[in-house]
Amino acid sequence: MKILVINAGSSSLKYQLIDMDNESVMAKGLCERIGIDGHLKHTPLVGGKPVYDENLSLPTHSEAISAVIDKLTSAEYGVVSSMQDIDAVGHRVVHGGEKFASSVVITDEVMDAIRECIPFAPLHNPANITGIEACRKVMGDVPMVAVFDTAFHQSMPGKAFMYAVPYEYYKNDGIRRYGFHGTSHRYVSSRAAEILGRPIEELKLISCHMGNGSSICAIENGKSVDTSMGFTPLVGLPMGTRCGDLDAGVIQFIMNKYHISIDEMLNILNKKSGVLGVSGVSSDFRDLEKAAEEGNERCRLALDMFYYWVAKVVGSYAAAMNGTDAIIFTAGIGENSSSTRSAIASYFGYLGVRIDEEANKKRGEDMVISTPDSKVTVLVIPTNEELVIARDTKKLVG
Ligand code: ADP
Repeated sequence: MKILVINAGSSSLKYQLIDMDNESVMAKGLCERIGIDGHLKHTPLVGGKPVYDENLSLPTHSEAISAVIDKLTSAEYGVVSSMQDIDAVGHRVVHGGEKFASSVVITDEVMDAIRECIPFAPLHNPANITGIEACRKVMGDVPMVAVFDTAFHQSMPGKAFMYAVPYEYYKNDGIRRYGFHGTSHRYVSSRAAEILGRPIEELKLISCHMGNGSSICAIENGKSVDTSMGFTPLVGLPMGTRCGDLDAGVIQFIMNKYHISIDEMLNILNKKSGVLGVSGVSSDFRDLEKAAEEGNERCRLALDMFYYWVAKVVGSYAAAMNGTDAIIFTAGIGENSSSTRSAIASYFGYLGVRIDEEANKKRGEDMVISTPDSKVTVLVIPTNEELVIARDTKKLVG
């Protein structure tokens, strides 16, 4: 069974074609600048075919999907002989609200329900919907599945997902914490159980997804019981450019003092804050680490804030679950930055964590970085959201 995995953004579209017989990626690629001019980079990974990397006209997502299908099936760059060889499509959808606690086969009713979630994710859901509609237009009756970033966190209990604001806002408007990165937290937690050789139903895990956006998830018996992002992905840890937790009074103060609108304010909090805002240098941890080593104090501070926040949230989840069996690091920073992992783990002495600094030097592969006598196992697990989407799609349509 061959499954096309699609992650559609407002002007981009990422894809992978996965052969589910052996879960291998046959081709992957990225359409960019959709609606502006257009660029496609298509990388075949089987059959020794060359990479396609060219500008081409992509006025809408439909042309982007058509271009992807064209490349996937072409004699020169293709990995399958025709569109009929693609058995199903799995779509990443950011927000499923309280309607979706798991992945679903896409029907007209499901499309309506995803549209109803647009107010919760006004930038992301419309782009995801456009991607699905374009695929339906180009690929016709091929079965399609939606996999939601929020779904995994629907198992959170009320005490964890509620905000302490008047209850009517929850009841009437759905104001609550939803959490994001659910597909990633689900993947790494189940992989951790495999590596530990124990059933996930008896484990207490803490997963730290640390990339441009970062979130932490407490996972008990395979279910998310708390997570650091909220109604939107703005909160929790300080991130590349997002502020993380912030007193709402600060927003009022800055808006009043500098006469800026709520839209401008949110743009600052989403795009100009986080480690970029504090350091004034970069949102990228590689730049921050280099500058901090060279003596830049604000870069040092931004990194220290990040480590401190991760440690603080992990500690609160260890308390919430009355202990933890394993702590997992994943995503761009978690998979690659050994100094970040080491600095964060230095807070975990009280948990009995001991890091094997030699093992921690490696990057980008599944590995245990704690010593055999560490009371809590610390793992690095490269995330694979596309594989989760493909597996869910196979399960639902297969
Ligand atoms: P996204 O949230 O966009 O999917 P990623 O998970 O790919 O992001 O993470 C991207 C971030 O990972 C980069 O901005 C950078 O901060 C960090 N990163 C990637 N490689 C390294 C590295 N070798 N050392 C430190 N940080 C890294």
